[in-house]
Amino acid sequence: MVQDFKLASRDYKKEDTIIQVGDVEIGGNDFVMIAGPCAVESEAQLMTTAYEVKNSGANILRGGAYKPRTSPHSFQGLGEEGLILLAKTREEINIPIITEVMDTRDVKLVEKYADILQIGTRNMQNFSLLKEVGCTQKPVLLKRGMMATIYDFLLSAEYILNEGNENVILCERGIRTFESLTRNTLDLSAIPIIKKLSHLPIIVDPSHSTGRRDLVKPMTKAAIAAGAHGAMIEVHIERDKALCDGNQSLTPQDFLNLMQEIQPLIKFIKTQQSLQII
Ligand code: PEP
Ligand code: MN
Repeated sequence: MVQDFKLASRDYKKEDTIIQVGDVEIGGNDFVMIAGPCAVESEAQLMTTAYEVKNSGANILRGGAYKPRTSPHSFQGLGEEGLILLAKTREEINIPIITEVMDTRDVKLVEKYADILQIGTRNMQNFSLLKEVGCTQKPVLLKRGMMATIYDFLLSAEYILNEGNENVILCERGIRTFESLTRNTLDLSAIPIIKKLSHLPIIVDPSHSTGRRDLVKPMTKAAIAAGAHGAMIEVHIERDKALCDGNQSLTPQDFLNLMQEIQPLIKFIKTQQSLQII
């Protein structure tokens, strides 16, 4: 098979890449949970959510300050004000933060505030942006393009690695198919395939891939069983009033239930992995 990616490949680096973010290790033995609202809406919303998800066991807080919306008339995010709220919440609650950067012109600013830079599905092949985040010192979470093959995905990771930033986390967030009962189709097979082809950590986003709150828990369990290193889940304190993605957001109580239900599964899968059964 022709392989155009090199730095991202298992041939280049045999051992798994483990990325350290504060006390959290992504790509190691622990299943890392990233949780929080789709968008930062207000200080109260973010603080309360952060407090709740951390208490339930989340390791990292998510929240968009720059939102890539399909319509220009939809809420676009609070911009720098959102970044300031994220940084304030990190200090208060003591939890690392991840947030999306959409534009090369904002990379320096977002880098100043965030612990992890997120590249969204729509920008997976924005090569100028990939190169720009490749020049930063911060870990980058790269989401799979909704119409990208696994090869395209790994080649985009290659752009970041090629600039010298070795801390790339991959995120399977669903691809477009003809199915209309879900927002996208979660490609679970990408997890074992990527683990074979690459040393980079791979996590799953069951919120954006399904677009349905009722599917978040079963798809998180499926991702754990498939060997993912973590998940990113949207949580909103008042989802009926959410400025974006309320339909796929869990309440803090749903999130706590999910965290409790997945613990035995995580334990079981770890045992199987250490016995090399899967
Ligand atoms: C997000 O995680 O906030 C987001 C916009 O996701 P995606 O880029 O996968 O649509
Ligand atoms: Mn969202």
